[in-house]
Amino acid sequence: MKPFAYERAASTEQAAQLVAAQPDAKFIAGGTNLLDLMKLQVEAPTLLVDVNRLALDRIEDTPDGGLRIGTLVRNADLAGHPQVRERYPVLSRALLAGASGQLRNRATTGGNLLQRTRCYYFYDPSKPCNKRDPGTGCSAIGGFNRIHAVVGASEHCIATHPSDMAVAMRVLDAQVETVSGRGERRVIPIGDFHRLPGDTPHIDSNLRHGEFITAVTLPPPPPGRQVYRKVRDRASYAFALVSVAAVVHAADGVLRSARLAFGGLAHKPWRVGAAEDVLRDARPGAEAAQAAADAVLQGAQGQGHNEFKIPLVRRVLAGVLAEAAGQR
Ligand code: SF4
Repeated sequence: MKPFAYERAASTEQAAQLVAAQPDAKFIAGGTNLLDLMKLQVEAPTLLVDVNRLALDRIEDTPDGGLRIGTLVRNADLAGHPQVRERYPVLSRALLAGASGQLRNRATTGGNLLQRTRCYYFYDPSKPCNKRDPGTGCSAIGGFNRIHAVVGASEHCIATHPSDMAVAMRVLDAQVETVSGRGERRVIPIGDFHRLPGDTPHIDSNLRHGEFITAVTLPPPPPGRQVYRKVRDRASYAFALVSVAAVVHAADGVLRSARLAFGGLAHKPWRVGAAEDVLRDARPGAEAAQAAADAVLQGAQGQGHNEFKIPLVRRVLAGVLAEAAGQR
């Protein structure tokens, strides 16, 4: 690990100012991903600004009936919060499907959104990787790419975003609150928060340098049954090959509305409006599920080892829709 300076922030504004003042400074909270990256020298910040003592660990009701989650709320506390379990069970289940109990006790809400891909080559400094070292190439294209993207990828990077929590937040239309080093506050819809790789795969999100996540807000829960299903290589402590977060409202044998977000498919939680449109007022069943999967997978391309994800999406989505519509 390379030497670095350390400062403990006394306020959110000071935290943002400290990081904004140095191009290679970073925030640290739970550190469950960043410290690993530093040990491998994939990340080498010159300054770590510790935000752990800021009073940003509360979960509060919002006036409109939603929930405001402080950035330092630990994943375990968020998953077990009575309001989350009762009103946003898709979020609780997604959190509990991620990592291990030990890591969930440490990992924070803001940090979970900012965790980096688990592409094997990104963590191996001996291998070319455009995300780690822009312009060096992508070892996963033509390499071993079982966990990689089948939609939204580019010729420069086919990595996936690893978070389960972010997939549930995407289906719930969460919003990310931030403050900059100049004290400016903004609210970013979660759909605009993460980026596709394009020709800048080294940039994961639309946060600016020094911009600090203070909270994530959830609007009131949408009507319908909430489901989170994750397919992975092990029963626990494994990242998603394919995951689906769904909120499906069925009545009188018809799907009134359906929201769907997918993990394991792309560089960001994958949500396709056309897939939700084809399900509106449709009869639940294999035909509707296949039509929705066609929309989700439009332009999908496997890279060899990950081609199994394309039929897997179809099967998982059919199962999730049947469960959410009360058919199984
Ligand atoms: Fe690097 Fe992305 Fe290629 Fe993985 S998929 S090797 S992260 S450029």
